[in-house]
Amino acid sequence: MSIESQPSPVASIMPLPVLLRGMGGRNLPSPPTGKVFDKPKEVTSRSKKKDIPEGMWTRCKACGEMITYKELEEVFKVCSKCQYHFTTTALERIRWLTDEGTFEETDANLISVDALKFKGVAAYPEKLKAYQKETGLKDAVLTGFAQIQGHKIGLAVMDFGFLAASMGSVVGERITRIIEKSTKKKLPVIIICTSGGARMYEGMLSLMQMVKTSAALARHAQARLAYITVLTNPTMAGVMASFASLGDVILAEPGAMIGFAGTRVIRETTREELPKGFQSAEFLLERGLVDMIVHRKLMKPTLTHLLEFMG
Ligand SMILES: [Zn+2]
Repeated sequence: MSIESQPSPVASIMPLPVLLRGMGGRNLPSPPTGKVFDKPKEVTSRSKKKDIPEGMWTRCKACGEMITYKELEEVFKVCSKCQYHFTTTALERIRWLTDEGTFEETDANLISVDALKFKGVAAYPEKLKAYQKETGLKDAVLTGFAQIQGHKIGLAVMDFGFLAASMGSVVGERITRIIEKSTKKKLPVIIICTSGGARMYEGMLSLMQMVKTSAALARHAQARLAYITVLTNPTMAGVMASFASLGDVILAEPGAMIGFAGTRVIRETTREELPKGFQSAEFLLERGLVDMIVHRKLMKPTLTHLLEFMG
């Protein structure tokens, strides 16, 4: 069944990260809910407020350092003082990770429909239209074939700027299709994950994407093909509970928030004090859920080594 004919999206309340968005390298978003970093310290010594045209500078969310957008672009959007990894876009990641000109997008024309017709603060179709305009994307993931240092792969890259990269039926369907196409072509799959979780606007149709993507990955694994996931800040909820955590190798960016439920929900449910930073990539590396933490500037060479090793 094609997505166009499939009823989908729903409505209710979007998670907080949606409100924090920012795209295109201009309005960089705050980190999502939950605190991986302490509150930024005010740094005044290097700020040149009087000479700075508005919009050219931003402040590091972790250490408070002032940094120009231009400078940020040159260093993979990583703070050069504290190495905080800023949120970035799917297009930027594709540019950083793949060989120039090799990315061929697949299933670009799948569009979400409004199955629930829920009318909240804003109706789902209006939300979609606004995010499409803001990001230039049709939905929260780009999929396609590409090459990394000459290695052909199936690739999916999620974009937090589009409705917190929530997983609706288009996200699930695109990811499923690139996995299936890669299985047919006998290619490894890499998914760069980020997500606030299920897309509540699509209700149960959103949750169904968890089993759909996982089933496609099971068939990909049966064909003895490699699957690598990269968890970036944040990778939460339904995405973490399905394809994000199923990689043969699971990489994560430093400081990424990774988990299922939010901190507050867990604390209120368990009524226990939670260890500091328990949803960070570093905490999960120590406990074996994450295999390797990789700085963004080393992601392409690391993926290349893994593809050579696993291919
Ligand atoms: Zn910093």
